[in-house]
Order: sequence, then C-alpha cells, then structure tokens
Amino acid sequence: MSAVMKEEGFDYAFNPQACESCQARCCTGESGYIYVTKNEIESIAKFLKMDVNEFVPKYLFKKMYKYSIKEKKNGESYECIFYDSKTNGCGIYEARPTQCKTFPFWDYYKTRVDELKLECPGIIDV
Ligand code: SF4
Ligand code: SF4
Repeated sequence: MSAVMKEEGFDYAFNPQACESCQARCCTGESGYIYVTKNEIESIAKFLKMDVNEFVPKYLFKKMYKYSIKEKKNGESYECIFYDSKTNGCGIYEARPTQCKTFPFWDYYKTRVDELKLECPGIIDV
C-alpha cells in the first residue's frame, strides 16, 4: 500500500492509491506541455534504444526554446504520446521527465489547489 505523500512548503498531500482508478488524468485530458531537458532527452532516447537525432523529431516538438513531448488525440482527450490507455501506464516510466515525477507537487499549484483538485483525485487537504 502506498503511503500518503507530503512535500515541504505545500498545503496539500497526495494519495498515490488514487492513481489506480484514475485513468491518468495528469497524462491525458486538456492539451499541455510536457517539458524535457537536454539530459532527459538523452535518457529517454537511451531508454528507447534510439538515436537522439531520430528520437527528437519523432516524439518532441519545440516550444520557444524548450522541447515538449508530443500528444496524440483520443476522442476529445489529448494524451501524451507515451501514455498507453490499454495498460493505463507510461511507456517511458523509468525515464519519464522530472515534470512527471514531481506532479502534483509543482510550484504552479501552490496557489492553485482548487485547479489541481479538478485534475487530480489524489489531492488531500492537510
Ligand atoms: S491525476 Fe493524480 S491520481 Fe490521477 S494518475 Fe495523475 S497523479 Fe494519479
Ligand atoms: S511521459 Fe509518461 S508520465 Fe509523463 S505525461 Fe507522458 S505518459 Fe504521463
């Protein structure tokens, strides 16, 4: 059983058990940016046993000076290209970017807990 997670400086906690019945609302739904750093690009390409020069145009797009992971449309939902709805899992889980690892503890949500609760059913008031 996964324990409830807390982070210093955040007014909420997170229950990872909620992920089991959630269908990955954080990887799907509204279109968004999933930023990857240069090191993360190299790690994900390595994980997929791909050359970086092949990986970048296939899975990423440029947003200003950063790279973001592409999405695919599933009905009305925009899903991360690495999200697999059949297994409800991430195809690059071991190499997923920091942005994914640190969700739902993003600075952005510190002052937007109501918005976060609409996205993630695992959020608990503390
Ligand atoms: S939205 Fe929240 S509960 Fe759902 S998969 Fe993502 S982290 Fe888990
Ligand atoms: S990389 Fe994995 S964890 Fe991150 S949004 Fe895509 S499917 Fe979700």
